[in-house]
Amino acid sequence: MTPYPFDAPASQALLERALAVTPGGVNSPVRAFRAVGGTPRFMASGAGPYLTDVDGREYVDLVGSWGPMILGHRHPAVVEAVQAAVADGFSFGTPSENEVRLCEEIVARVEPVEQVRLVSSGTEATMSAIRLARGYTGRSLVVKFAGCYHGHVDSLLAQAGSGVATFALPDSAGVPKEMAAETIVLPYNDLAAVEQAFAAQGAEIAAVITEASPGNMGVVPPAPGFTEGLRRITAAHGALLISDEVMTGFRCSAAGWYGLEGPYDAGAPDLFTFGKVMGGGFPAAAFGGRADVMALLAPVGPVYQAGTLSGNPVATAAGRATLEQCTPALYARLDEAADALTAALRDELGRAGVPHTIQRAGSMFSVFFRDGAVTDYDGARAQHVPAFGAFFHSMLSQGVYLPPSAFESWFVSGAHDDAAVDRVVSAVPAAAAAAAE
Ligand code: PLP
Repeated sequence: MTPYPFDAPASQALLERALAVTPGGVNSPVRAFRAVGGTPRFMASGAGPYLTDVDGREYVDLVGSWGPMILGHRHPAVVEAVQAAVADGFSFGTPSENEVRLCEEIVARVEPVEQVRLVSSGTEATMSAIRLARGYTGRSLVVKFAGCYHGHVDSLLAQAGSGVATFALPDSAGVPKEMAAETIVLPYNDLAAVEQAFAAQGAEIAAVITEASPGNMGVVPPAPGFTEGLRRITAAHGALLISDEVMTGFRCSAAGWYGLEGPYDAGAPDLFTFGKVMGGGFPAAAFGGRADVMALLAPVGPVYQAGTLSGNPVATAAGRATLEQCTPALYARLDEAADALTAALRDELGRAGVPHTIQRAGSMFSVFFRDGAVTDYDGARAQHVPAFGAFFHSMLSQGVYLPPSAFESWFVSGAHDDAAVDRVVSAVPAAAAAAAE
């Protein structure tokens, strides 16, 4: 295997400058190439399904800024909305119409969400939802699942997915043990473990938080009945169910994962969190749900939550313009592109004799370099990570940008036309051969 199939001198020069002024040279760990080796590519521009790096090399982008770019880069409708918003001013620190329109759009799409509060990142959304659940129930314990990532909230970093999984960290230094003790971590897709935890401590559990369909340990959809079971158990014990749709929201369908799996006979989750797509590439996220729970938030209720840039007029304009383009035709195209890519991956990895499993949640998908279905974090970790590294570098050298980790979802956009899909498909045989070495 050739670890660095081509050099990237301009990226390397920027990395050296970056290393001097920011830890690891990156402002979010998942952007580093530590898990796969080599120089992270510094991108200069994006257009449709393509990214161009500072060395002038073009890549088909299957990261999509880790989810937000559902329309591809620089979609004209979003550019127009952002330019119009910027022309009116950047931030007022007052309510503005753009935020009302974005909230209305979210409430209209996700039926159980009666009220929503805007924030600037998915981390803020889950952190605030947890505080609200604690305020509502007067309890403090929170159940999360191993391999699920909910942002870098102190109490939610235990056995988390995303970068925490990529770098094989059990949890994070700097989280007080008292705080970690407030979190019960259970195996994903294991309702018996949830039953047991509630039998032991049900009266102290404020909430169960789950990725609606996990994408941060690779794509591991809930087993049929799992989410429904969570709803039944939490309701029986007076705990809230928080469905984290930061990644899946408005991506898996117009109403996110809920739109594919819901409504549930046992009832809807109490709270939802959103981010990524709803900001269209700008910092906008949200949490929302039952009006009686949301009524506990300041200034109406006693649970405090705030943000200088929450509901920023430019970010909310970008988000609304993006959601307006999230039509049935867009979701059909995302599915078509994902169908074509997963079929090619399955064929070529099979032909090359590389053990693999491809899992999907709507158009989100990932490849596990192992045989057999993956249902939880232990299963995700049981893959052959070096095979992913070889596959990744072969794809990169052929102009395809994948997440630099075996534990992430891959994302397509509405801009991934046949030409972009064909470029990826034609790169797969050599990458499969590299993974087989
Ligand atoms: N929740 C989920 C499911 C996520 O995938 C992420 C980010 O990847 C977050 C929360 C945190 O969002 P942010 O990175 O915007 O803080």
